[in-house]
Amino acid sequence: MARPVIAIVGRPNVGKSTIFNRVIGDRLAIVEDKPGVTRDRLYGSGEWNGKAFSIVDTGGIEIDGEDEIMKSVRMQAELAIEEADVIIFMVDAKAGLTHADDEVARMLFRSRKPVVVAVNKVDNFNRMDDVYEFYSLGFGEPIAISGSHGLGIGDLLETAVEKLPEPKQDEYDDDVIKVAVIGRPNVGKSSLVNALLGEERVIVSNMAGTTRDAIDTPFERDGQRYVLIDTAGMRKRGKVYETTEKYSVMRALKAIERADVVLVLINGEEGIIEQDKHIAGFAHEAGKASIFVVNKWDVVEKDEKTMQQFTQSIRDHFLFMTYAPIVFLSAKTKQRLQKLIPVVNHVSEQHALRIQTHLLNDVIADAVAMNPPPSDKGKRLRINYVTQVAVKPPTIVVFVNDPELMHFSYQRYLENKIRGAFNFEGTPIRIYTRRKS
Ligand code: GDP
Ligand code: GDP
Repeated sequence: MARPVIAIVGRPNVGKSTIFNRVIGDRLAIVEDKPGVTRDRLYGSGEWNGKAFSIVDTGGIEIDGEDEIMKSVRMQAELAIEEADVIIFMVDAKAGLTHADDEVARMLFRSRKPVVVAVNKVDNFNRMDDVYEFYSLGFGEPIAISGSHGLGIGDLLETAVEKLPEPKQDEYDDDVIKVAVIGRPNVGKSSLVNALLGEERVIVSNMAGTTRDAIDTPFERDGQRYVLIDTAGMRKRGKVYETTEKYSVMRALKAIERADVVLVLINGEEGIIEQDKHIAGFAHEAGKASIFVVNKWDVVEKDEKTMQQFTQSIRDHFLFMTYAPIVFLSAKTKQRLQKLIPVVNHVSEQHALRIQTHLLNDVIADAVAMNPPPSDKGKRLRINYVTQVAVKPPTIVVFVNDPELMHFSYQRYLENKIRGAFNFEGTPIRIYTRRKS
């Protein structure tokens, strides 16, 4: 089920990234601890009272020219209005109410999106007078918080989560493979969708304006049903807006949430850039199956080593996604296009693979026998039992004497052994360590 999105909007320096980091903080430590995952995050996931959500810090949009702050806040607000389910509008108690705050408030108000006003830098909760002036923004009771002291964050999340829409039920049957096509502008997303659909294109569902987020196109091939979730459809924004990284990332994020398999498009002509990593990183974090699709292969000058070199370059840039297969093709000439669907089917199966407990325990027992966990300050990790608790993505719980003793490198060793035995190609695996003696 797709997680709803909460966006944080506000002037530079009000404390957006401080709060963002606090919200995603704990989870980050549990879920991924891998080198190579980007640290400069635009989005993360959080949970409050059992409700999971994605959270986006819209800050950091940089624009040149005069009136820079106003422009950047305006753009953040537009982005949030378009993409978020609930908006946290952050203001600064120390600075007080500013003209920019007023203008953003007007934009948010017109959009009718649910808004929570968070008044940050209230470091002393005995001084609530600073907070009341923000009532005038017109969004009800402002929530006092302090990012640096960690105060009021629970109240803020409580209020925001209450305003989230009910989670949408899955729109498609379970046996439909949902495929998101993501990548930066101009990489060839629309072209790939068109090439895949060919004559089968269902025109109706592709009309501009039928949906704002993404365009879904169902199709069937050899008895298997698919839905393509295409984020490329909407092009009405100005150039600055369109090329803003946050914009494409946020659109990608929503498509990824709804997908089983993510096609991460890379421009074969231009190679890999930082933005590709951000986009791919989210597919990884969201626990989706992924395939790297190197497009525009028709215009790449090739010799017998080119494919191997490009593969190496992808592996070097995406250290955290070595499980993802790579397909080289041209959406334009349809060269090698027929290779893609079989790989989609394969990773989709792997994503839903469930390994019997006794087989899993045999593999772990062998792994431990071959390379016992190192001891730490006289204590040694003991693994009692391993079981797979979920699919999509495969999620494995390791019961041990003391979770603190499970080191990252040993966990990675176990993951490699599990992959060696069962493959899990194309899908991330989640491994959690729990205490049980
Ligand atoms: P952003 O630009 O909105 O993302 O703001 P940052 O999170 O980068 O914070 C801007 C500055 O405000 C930093 O120097 C923070 O340390 C500071 N700051 C954040 N939260 C608080 C707070 O609750 N109280 C005080 N006094 N300073 C804070
Ligand atoms: P999107 O922004 O990711 O949807 O990209 P488009 O599908 O609109 O493609 C952007 C440009 O790249 C267009 O001019 C396409 O014709 C071109 N293009 C897309 N795929 C290929 C390809 O495989 N080879 C070549 N040479 N050009 C391509």
